[in-house]
Amino acid sequence: MHRPLLERAIDICKHKKIRFTATRQRVFLLMAEQKGAISAYDLLKLLQGHDTNAKPPTIYRALDFLLENHFIHRIESLNAYLMCNHFGSEHPMQLLICDNCHKIIGLTDPVIDDAFSERAKQSGFKITNKVLEAHGVCYNCLYN
Ligand SMILES: [Zn+2]
Ligand SMILES: [Zn+2]
Repeated sequence: MHRPLLERAIDICKHKKIRFTATRQRVFLLMAEQKGAISAYDLLKLLQGHDTNAKPPTIYRALDFLLENHFIHRIESLNAYLMCNHFGSEHPMQLLICDNCHKIIGLTDPVIDDAFSERAKQSGFKITNKVLEAHGVCYNCLYN
């Protein structure tokens, strides 16, 4: 059911002339099947269901590849990974993480992003890697 997504990713990789190996594709599909974020450890367990030889470096190499090509996001505060809905292109990102049900809402507000960068600049600081993550309670958990 996630084949169309995979096919889009294959097209992007072909276009950029980068190698999208079978293992990377498998990890991509496993990520696409997740409803929310997943840790590298849990992903490795899933991968081992297909390939008993898969080791931690296998999964980390595949995740690095998917990160570099903007197919997934890393959530620093959860030490986990999330499929990117915007797929193959870089974009601003602010994450709202529910600590109760672990739902994650991804905002992509350029105004917040620019304001943050601008204030950093005013402080004489050049941002090279930016992660905005907020923890709290989602609407469902709050009112149900
Ligand atoms: Zn994204
Ligand atoms: Zn929640």
